[in-house]
Amino acid sequence: SDTLYLHVRVGQISDDLFAIFISDMSEQRRFEIMRRDFVTNVSHELKTPAGAISLLAETIGDAADDPGMVKYFAGRISKESERLTELVHRLIDLQKAQSAAAVLNAERLSVLALVREAIVENQVKAESKHINLVLSLNGKQKLVHVEGAVNAVDEDDLFINADHETIKTAVKNLVENAVNYSPEHTTVAVGIGSGDDEVAIRVVDQGIGIPESSLDRIFERFYRVDPARSRETGGTGLGLAITKHCVQDCGGTIAVWSREGEGSTFTITLPQAQAVETAETAETAGN
Ligand code: ADP
Repeated sequence: SDTLYLHVRVGQISDDLFAIFISDMSEQRRFEIMRRDFVTNVSHELKTPAGAISLLAETIGDAADDPGMVKYFAGRISKESERLTELVHRLIDLQKAQSAAAVLNAERLSVLALVREAIVENQVKAESKHINLVLSLNGKQKLVHVEGAVNAVDEDDLFINADHETIKTAVKNLVENAVNYSPEHTTVAVGIGSGDDEVAIRVVDQGIGIPESSLDRIFERFYRVDPARSRETGGTGLGLAITKHCVQDCGGTIAVWSREGEGSTFTITLPQAQAVETAETAETAGN
């Protein structure tokens, strides 16, 4: 990927004067390679379940008089089509995130409410793995129940300006990964913190972790540390690429810390929204 592509052209300026024009085509060439790889990856990812479906459909015909086999093949077909649907949805999410249209719909959002939504949407999955999915505020862990509510005007709350769907997709993806890549009976904690003018949303798991050699590749489209394991958990390899674009669309950054066998921490940092000017603060400012 560090290859330099130069375009060299020799031109005659006058009878005895020649010039050599050298232009650096590396950037353009890299972009071309990336686009070609992406198309190759998409077709491969789509062809795999599509091929399986047609093969299974053929086989089901041969097994027509064995109800057990018919049921088995029907189950496999439905699983493969779910995979296709998931992939198409993820590709649409990626397309949306890359087009940055999200910036246009920025609104003032409560970070606490946002995090709570991301937790609630992953609660069923976490429960099925006996994972303790908690909201961590000032070191205290709070359980968020699907039915219950964390006070939305909690004094620990912070605010950001972002497109609701976009930033929710990002936080939700991180929580989903934390649950997917954690063994049973562990804890996934989502924390909120604030710096100078920033808000940090931290997703901490006690899962399998990410090898150091993979850390700078996990945000690439279709990159998976362990493709077989990722497919098993329904992964497409697009989640973190989407997440990164979503965070960037909202003016934020994303960072990862991880150690194999210990767990991972993903941190989203976003600019903090200004405090709403109340009559009282406006008066003070005027004085
Ligand atoms: P996938 O759909 O495969 O989960 P992602 O883009 O979300 O794709 O993540 C890319 C890869 O990064 C995953 O396949 C997995 O290997 C690794 N990964 C992501 N999140 C975690 C995590 N919390 N713990 C361990 N590995 C993770």
